[in-house]
Amino acid sequence: MQDIKEQCHKNIFDTYARTPVAFVKGEGCRLWDDAGKEYLDFLAGIAVCNLGHCHPAVTRAIVRSAEELVHVSNLFYTYPQVQLAAELTRLSFADKIFYSNSGAEANEAAIKLARKHSWDRFGPGRFHIITMRNSFHGRTLATLSATGQSKVHNGFEPLVDGFTYVDFNSIEAVQSAITDKTCAVLVEPVQGEGGLNFASPGYFRELKALCVKNDLLLIFDEVQSGLGRTGTLFAYEQEGMTPDVMTLAKALANGLPMGAMLATEEAAKAFVPGTHATTFGGGPLVANAALATLGILSDPAFLKGVRETGAYMHGRLGELKARYPFIKEVRGRGLMMGIELDIPGVPFVRKCLDAGVIINCTHETVLRFVPPLIAGRSEVDRLITVLDGIFEREVK
Ligand SMILES: *Cc1c(COP(=O)(O)O)cnc(C)c1O
Repeated sequence: MQDIKEQCHKNIFDTYARTPVAFVKGEGCRLWDDAGKEYLDFLAGIAVCNLGHCHPAVTRAIVRSAEELVHVSNLFYTYPQVQLAAELTRLSFADKIFYSNSGAEANEAAIKLARKHSWDRFGPGRFHIITMRNSFHGRTLATLSATGQSKVHNGFEPLVDGFTYVDFNSIEAVQSAITDKTCAVLVEPVQGEGGLNFASPGYFRELKALCVKNDLLLIFDEVQSGLGRTGTLFAYEQEGMTPDVMTLAKALANGLPMGAMLATEEAAKAFVPGTHATTFGGGPLVANAALATLGILSDPAFLKGVRETGAYMHGRLGELKARYPFIKEVRGRGLMMGIELDIPGVPFVRKCLDAGVIINCTHETVLRFVPPLIAGRSEVDRLITVLDGIFEREVK
């Protein structure tokens, strides 16, 4: 451990506060470190490995693709990205796909699309985008500007112009922020990095109506909430409405870097040859991995299992809440789950790790659980046993 730690800090930028463990192997919901210790994974590489580590169907797709064709660029046609686009549009509200390589890039594309879409219809000057406080949209200059958290902005000013932050879950706040310069609203259907925040029933339907009335594009950042995480393929499906644009990344290729912007035909027409591009986007290797991933994630029986495990987990975390007064709230949908504490959460992450369970803490006091979606009751039971033991020592 000491060796890799020293080498890492010597030669790699110190941009991450790393936990002192080096993983060398993964399978399903389990990981192994370089000393052979086994861990149960309730983080899934930050909601990325939704099918678990090294899922055989995805591994097979990667290996086959690596032997066949890896990259030729978007100057040509390739089959996997076209097949994947057919699947993504069949399974969602969208008509058109733009491929990126990360969540930030997918959001960057959506921000550009919103500006261009408005420019084409109304001319220049209408470029403001309303986003939410405590949101997270990425770390590029435009997406960090879109992010409603000053800790992400600090030191990088001046920010990209034209973002207005309002309180999440308040229609009035959006309403009063709209001006004749506003072109879009960008929102996560569930705030992930901001502490697992859910909106009230009906909020997104009202938000959509407000956007229609004011000619604004409604962009959903489903980079974390999408791809089965909340128990439906996309979180918007549970809101009784559809956005105009949606971004995906994290779980799209179950661990390979891939993102996508999905849009209606009407919104997509603002991008024409020369307006946006990326060299790697939608290459055969990642597109084949995504096809294999989506084939499993989109199965209604699979999604039903996610909802069932999620409901079971919600109940079991509720039992802990009844026993430990420092647990303020259990929040979750599907397997996007968290408990808010009224004490700092970070020490518990380390204690879980020592006990062989990987979890994470977001927004200082929220313990977040985003396991592989293949997790079942036995994995949940193990997590609960470990948490219970740690919490019990805490109150003593
Ligand atoms: C992780 C995340 C991003 C950024 O994705 P990267 O692939 O790290 O650029 C954007 N939006 C949301 C909601 C995320 O959770």
